[in-house]
Amino acid sequence: MSKFLSTRIHGFIIIAIVSSVFLQAQEPGLPDELFSRPERTKYQETSVHADIMAFVQSLEENSDKVHVEIMGTSFEGRDLPLVIISNPKVTSPEQAFTSGKPVFYIQGNIHGGEVEGKEAILKLLREIAFEQKGYLLDNQILLFCPLFNPDGNDDLGPNNRPNQDGSPFLAGKRTNGQDFDLNRDGLKLETFEGKALVENVMNRWDPLMFVDLHTTNGTWHGYSITYAPGIHTAGHPAVSTYLNEELFPRITNRIRQRSGHETHQYGGFYEYPPQSYYGMYPEPRFLTNSFALKNKLAILVETFSHDHFEKRIDSNIAFLTALLEYTNDYGFEIQELVDNANQEVIDQIIDNGGSFSRGVEFSYEEPGLSTDLYVYEVKSGKRKGKKIWYSGVNQYFDMSADREAIVPRAYVFPEELWKVAEKLREHGVLVTQLSDASSFQGEKYTVMQLNKQNRSYQGHYPASLEGYFENASLDMPAGSYFVDMAQAYAFLIFYMLEPEADDGLVHWNYFDDYLEDRGVGANRVDFPVFKIGELGSGMNEEIISSMGVSYNPDQKAILIRDLPESVNQGVIELVSSSGQIMIRRKLAKGETHLELNVSSIALGLYLIRLSGDNLMQTQKVLIRNLE
Ligand SMILES: [Zn+2]
Repeated sequence: MSKFLSTRIHGFIIIAIVSSVFLQAQEPGLPDELFSRPERTKYQETSVHADIMAFVQSLEENSDKVHVEIMGTSFEGRDLPLVIISNPKVTSPEQAFTSGKPVFYIQGNIHGGEVEGKEAILKLLREIAFEQKGYLLDNQILLFCPLFNPDGNDDLGPNNRPNQDGSPFLAGKRTNGQDFDLNRDGLKLETFEGKALVENVMNRWDPLMFVDLHTTNGTWHGYSITYAPGIHTAGHPAVSTYLNEELFPRITNRIRQRSGHETHQYGGFYEYPPQSYYGMYPEPRFLTNSFALKNKLAILVETFSHDHFEKRIDSNIAFLTALLEYTNDYGFEIQELVDNANQEVIDQIIDNGGSFSRGVEFSYEEPGLSTDLYVYEVKSGKRKGKKIWYSGVNQYFDMSADREAIVPRAYVFPEELWKVAEKLREHGVLVTQLSDASSFQGEKYTVMQLNKQNRSYQGHYPASLEGYFENASLDMPAGSYFVDMAQAYAFLIFYMLEPEADDGLVHWNYFDDYLEDRGVGANRVDFPVFKIGELGSGMNEEIISSMGVSYNPDQKAILIRDLPESVNQGVIELVSSSGQIMIRRKLAKGETHLELNVSSIALGLYLIRLSGDNLMQTQKVLIRNLE
């Protein structure tokens, strides 16, 4: 087998040299590294990590629009490249912010064998940097990680992706170097790659959109590309609704008209001919869902595995081009959508925290709709060639809650659970500590039983709790962790901390030690995370909640509310994209709401900065025309 492989690989290298000479003649001036390995091997081979690093390095050297960062290293120590491409070039999140342009992020190859997203990103980067697609940088800053799972990608073998139409002959494996699936790490953030993504891309660059490029595992639907929004079931619906109702219909029409590629919502069917079509699961272990709970535009893209490699790359590029044309045209609308969703989550918590519920466990709703589905005729697992429309296929896309819990105003938990506090902070959640002992009213959960699965999954023995909630009061000592839910990421916090959430920190064993030390099972044990229903008047002095900032185009005024009462020597500033202070206003003692008249200020993106001698907060605000 190894002799056979080396002969074939040798043959590919000869092809590689010939075809790169040919391509160079087509594109004078560009070095070899800027053509991907599939382009150089007639689509027989996929790029390995060394190719990707050579490509992005050459891109940075040859283009004045490209900045490359290393966003982290994989488990086996390979660099994870992050390409920032913009015109003019930006080299830091601060520059991106002051440019006023929205930032969007796309990654490839989360599953090592699913290679076309990676190759499509390379070709698209070249087209944007040197060729006809420079217009995609008119109004936006783009971030790309072509290779998110280099360990899996480089672990090449001949049988890793049998459904991928024979090419590339060698493909990587699904998991990372630790044998973990990076698309099950969205909540627990325990892989090097997942931590790097959240810390150095999502928290650092704050992109409005997260796109994850995959390849299907063998379903015989007839679409080149399928796609799904982050499932919003437990969060704010606006962003996923926008994807389904505005963005997806427009870009898929454009793709069909331009390139003929058929696209559809992502799903699978398990009988032939198909009767039911099932969409994505809702758990935040899937990266798109965890970012949807943070009010990001999150898009799962699945390329059809049975298409030829070149077509798979081409359909990816068609999808990404249409998507980035859309974000280039509607970036400010998306910015506003996300800002509004963030604000509405905060408002909902402030107004109703402690008195409304959300799901913590879900299943598919009975189908209300049926769909027409384009499907290949298949016999004995092989395509017969024709595509057929089936109508009346039951569509299972919507999820409904089987179990709900009250969304509290805040959570409090003991210092002993510092790992839980750290995990929240890794996600960008604001966690404070009580400066004095405090009393709270709210809900406590009593654990009767801790159940653990006996099969290892992603390095865990997933757990669930049986118990009950009741109203209670609680005294907590100074130093206890306090999570004010009036934050944009409230629904992710909720999913992480709820004792009965099907994919929360309980599921991933973060509370096992605490509960087992106290004899759970034999004893009833209070779950250590207490849910605060309402913040007492005494509490406000301890809490730094996020201020609310919104622009009212009718009044030409910025409304700022929920300023913390405890701020000392507070100052509010409106800062322009070039860093200039446009308005500066001292806060009166105890002032919590104010209005800034901005009728004489130019349209654009600004920063509202609150500073005092004990805190600083910033929020973006867009001053715009009436629609
Ligand atoms: Zn995948």
